[in-house]
Amino acid sequence: MQLVYRSILLLFLTSYVFVVNAEQLTDTSTLENMEQSLNKQPWQTYQTLLLETEQLDNMSLHYKLWWWLRKAQAENLLYFFDKFEKTVTQAEKSIHSQTSAQVTIYFDLFRGLILQRQGQYQQSQTILKKAKHLARKNHFTYLAVRAKQELAYTRSLTEVYELSLTELQQAYVEAFALNDEFLIAKINEVYGAIYGYMNDYDNSVEYYQKALTSYQKLGYPAHEVEAIYGLAATYRYWQKYELAIEYYQRYQQTIEFSPNNIDGKFYAAYGIAMSEAEQGSCEQALVSIDYAVALEGLIDYKAELYKRKAQCLIEKGDLNEAKDALQLASDIFKGIPELVGTSWQIEIIKINAALAHAQGDGSLAYQLLKQFNKKEIESINSRSSDRLLRVRSSMEVERQNVEISLLQQRTKVQDLQFEQQEQKNTIQAYVIGFIVMLVFFILLFVYFQWRHGKRLLQLSIRDPLTDSFNRRYVFNFLNRLLKDNTSEKTTVSIMVIDIDDFKLVNDLYGHPFGDEVIKKIALLGAEVLRGEDVIGRVGGEEFLCVLPRIDAVQSLHIAQRIVKEVSACDFLASDKNDNNQRVNVTVSIGVATTFRNLQNSSGLYAQADKALYYAKYNGKNRAIQFQESMQDSYQARSGIKKPTTPLNDQ
Ligand code: GH3
Ligand code: MG
Ligand code: MG
Repeated sequence: MQLVYRSILLLFLTSYVFVVNAEQLTDTSTLENMEQSLNKQPWQTYQTLLLETEQLDNMSLHYKLWWWLRKAQAENLLYFFDKFEKTVTQAEKSIHSQTSAQVTIYFDLFRGLILQRQGQYQQSQTILKKAKHLARKNHFTYLAVRAKQELAYTRSLTEVYELSLTELQQAYVEAFALNDEFLIAKINEVYGAIYGYMNDYDNSVEYYQKALTSYQKLGYPAHEVEAIYGLAATYRYWQKYELAIEYYQRYQQTIEFSPNNIDGKFYAAYGIAMSEAEQGSCEQALVSIDYAVALEGLIDYKAELYKRKAQCLIEKGDLNEAKDALQLASDIFKGIPELVGTSWQIEIIKINAALAHAQGDGSLAYQLLKQFNKKEIESINSRSSDRLLRVRSSMEVERQNVEISLLQQRTKVQDLQFEQQEQKNTIQAYVIGFIVMLVFFILLFVYFQWRHGKRLLQLSIRDPLTDSFNRRYVFNFLNRLLKDNTSEKTTVSIMVIDIDDFKLVNDLYGHPFGDEVIKKIALLGAEVLRGEDVIGRVGGEEFLCVLPRIDAVQSLHIAQRIVKEVSACDFLASDKNDNNQRVNVTVSIGVATTFRNLQNSSGLYAQADKALYYAKYNGKNRAIQFQESMQDSYQARSGIKKPTTPLNDQ
């Protein structure tokens, strides 16, 4: 299964690379913009670059150079120094006078680094200077600062601190002006290193910490590791061995960002071994030193390890072995002329004196020690000359001034930006306020429209006097109900209610009272009916009730209840003297029932009307169910002679 996944992935990657390359034969923009992702994720970016290896032959020379450049950069960051050198050497063969200045500067920088690591400090300086000038000439300020910073570091390695600091100072001002946090951090890191070499440990730790904080903020693991290493080394020189070992161990863990790198392992092993030896834990140190020198690593660092080994062996009494170790260290220094005369090389004389003393050769020991003291004083003098001290202190002041004035400028810009932002915010607030108001008014408008529509609808279906439904609605309802195509065959009943002798009521008590009677009867009817029944005023004092799923027996029963409720109800009318008078009102109801789809509304209504006629005819104040046997003879109720008055004045 996994194999399938892998093949799919490989296929995908290969096609991706192919497609990308087909497009990018000459387009180097992706590579040119790779710097940040390289710094953030060197390992992943390196893997992405390597995917293009096969396709490289199809690329233009310009593309190839950029690819090599980024590859070299990744290898340097990942501590793959051998690969780094190979890539740089390969690319250099293709660099000629037509090559872009940017590419040339980068490769000069890389070569400078390689020479610096090989201990060839003079050549390193020459090529870094070349890079610096080329960058200046072509206005690549960033690269110029990088070159200066590397140059300063290389110089510091040969103890030319004065020049290094001056150089670094200029680089710092430029980096600060560029407001490039990475460059500033890089320079702070070199300051940390130089102050360390000058035994100014407080400053050294301060600058390294500044650099470390910046790298952590930027998320650049390779540089973070460098700063941690610097801190470890400073603590070691400062003889704070516990802290030194702690930082070397932290370095050992952090370096894991670059899997399988050899040099990182060596540096960690070197640092731990040196710290243990200098701390006086010789037993432990001898094991750690043997482990470290067996690893692949820098030759002058190995010389340091051999010196410590010699000291521990002298202490242990293994004098011959100590002599061998010292010889190895001495041979290494002889191969690096720049280091002759430095404190590192001079120390061999001191250890030799200790060895002579342990061997019992007092006078040799004395002579060697004298020689050592003389050389050390020379070295110290050269490092702490008045001039250097002056340069250092004046530079610190100048540096701070530059920082302050640049910060002031930056604050001004920030104030302006803040003001602009505030203006923007105010405008935004107005716009938001306007939109909120607009939405509010739209919602209000929609609400009123909806209410208006609802009112219109009510008006179109309601009877204004009784608030029951109107004729149109109740007949529509009945029509729909009868035509409803549901499978179940249910019954539908209707009732036509007509007030008895209403003309008389009007005549005796006036129209307003008549209106009140109509309203009250509509209410009484609605109270007796169920929620799903519908009552509507279909004529002056006539109501039609529609009762779904009510059969003939039930409907007659309901109608009789209405008749009873109305006749039991007291209607109060006031006479001329404003005295209340109880008036009896009755209704007659015609009821008709049908099954759905059997009758239409007018047919059913006619039947109910006929039944109503019978109710009137048979003495009013009653409900009568339509029967098929009822005569078809009548035409209209208006033609029927009114029965004797059912109206009782009380
Ligand atoms: P019957 O018992 O046969 O029904 O006799 P009736 O007097 O009630 O006769 P009919 O139903 O034909 O009379 C309807 C009367 O109702 C006519 C009119 O004066 C009165 N009327 C119609 N609409 C209104 C109304 O809105 N308000 C009032 N107060 N009276 C109305
Ligand atoms: Mg009538
Ligand atoms: Mg009537």
